[in-house]
Amino acid sequence: MAPTMAEQPTRHGPLELHGLSVEGVNQCVHCGLCLAYCPTFSELGTEMDSPRGRIHMIKSLAAGRIALSDSVVEHLSLCLDCRACETVCPAGVPYGRLIEAAKAEIERQRPGRPLRRLLRRLSLRLLLEHPALLRLAAASLRVYQIVGLQGLVRRSGIARLLPGTLPAWEALLPPIPGASERAPLPPLIPAEGRKRARVALLTGCVQAVVFGAHNRATARILAKNGYEVAVPPEQGCCGALNAHGGDHERAVDMARRAIDVFERAGVDAVVVNTSGCGAHMKNYGLLLANDPAYAERAMRLARSVRDISEFLGREPLRGPLGPVPMTVTYHDPCHVVHGQKIRTEPRKLLAQIPGLKVVELQESDWCCGSAGIYNLTQPEMATRLLHRKVNHILATGAEAVVTANPGCILQIQAGLRAHGSEVPVLHIVEVLDRAYKSEGASTAPSETSPRSIAPAKPALDRAGDVAP
Ligand code: SF4
Ligand code: SF4
Repeated sequence: MAPTMAEQPTRHGPLELHGLSVEGVNQCVHCGLCLAYCPTFSELGTEMDSPRGRIHMIKSLAAGRIALSDSVVEHLSLCLDCRACETVCPAGVPYGRLIEAAKAEIERQRPGRPLRRLLRRLSLRLLLEHPALLRLAAASLRVYQIVGLQGLVRRSGIARLLPGTLPAWEALLPPIPGASERAPLPPLIPAEGRKRARVALLTGCVQAVVFGAHNRATARILAKNGYEVAVPPEQGCCGALNAHGGDHERAVDMARRAIDVFERAGVDAVVVNTSGCGAHMKNYGLLLANDPAYAERAMRLARSVRDISEFLGREPLRGPLGPVPMTVTYHDPCHVVHGQKIRTEPRKLLAQIPGLKVVELQESDWCCGSAGIYNLTQPEMATRLLHRKVNHILATGAEAVVTANPGCILQIQAGLRAHGSEVPVLHIVEVLDRAYKSEGASTAPSETSPRSIAPAKPALDRAGDVAP
């Protein structure tokens, strides 16, 4: 069924939305194979909430046949950008790129009320671009939590009186860790045993202050596996949240900055443990394709980016690993499995841990409703998808959920709590780190995986050498 909004006269010219190419819309052959894999179509059953319907809308928008009406905005905004449709599309439609262009256009034409604009500017620009401010905000939130104010706000229901999406932000606020966990990592962590290569670790923006433990665990397991880990202190946000939020201009600036920083680090690969950031950085080549000063460098850096599971999962882990006797299930984050096409590597890594039993999760690669800040902007659909995910998790009987993205961890943990479940949600690096620390694992890494990457210069030019 075709979209039903009133059509307007066709505008001639290249298929783009305010400078962002949407040429890929023409690749769609309307076969509908993607429909059964789309979470919003599955929940609502309406064509305009399916990939095919949205592609039709984006094409009509770019051709000037329709305007950005309330209805069009609603259907496009309801898309999770989970890219499950991309995985199954036989025609190779680059759906993620199309929906990001559409969301940037929505942001440009319909920026919302002054309060919303102010909050977005504060969160997307001020905080993400100034790590010192972000650390200050984290410290203030920690005080808010430890003096008991958060408990009071939650018990009294005052949070519900806050404007806009603030109540949802408050409900999702994770426990902010202490100062030692929020402190920056040392700029260099030496490899243990025989050195294989030098890599850089993206410590991220929000990740660094909320999930510093994941960064530390990532650095430790890389070192255990023979990698020298550079942590450039001047690194900032990769720009993924800006791109997903429709702030294209700022996303481009942040990508340029990240390229400068990681080039200077002289590394063989840039390792990332947050899936949205990894998928976005792998897209830097396209993002900067029209920038003569950065186009080639962006392609080179993008080729060197590796998700932590992808990077370690290409060969056996260096042992010894101690036992982690528990039963877990694995949730595939959308921007790992669909955005980066990484499906087998996390399971291969978990299979190497003695005592760990992995039970498969039904619809493991369906979005949990987190999707960046989707759970804040579209709480109703996010909650429906979260219930679906939590029900599948509880049906496995697993003692813990393992995943690979902080957004999924917060969302699923909140969903489990709401169902009265205490099942913890862990990042895969925490499980691997636990195995290395477990009684029975020696402190000296063995040399069981002799494949080495010979150092040469310039390091990033050889990024393809470390590809799986
Ligand atoms: S996006 Fe791909 S799978 Fe979906 S209708 Fe178009 S061609 Fe078919
Ligand atoms: S990105 Fe996800 S929610 Fe959006 S159309 Fe594709 S499958 Fe559906």
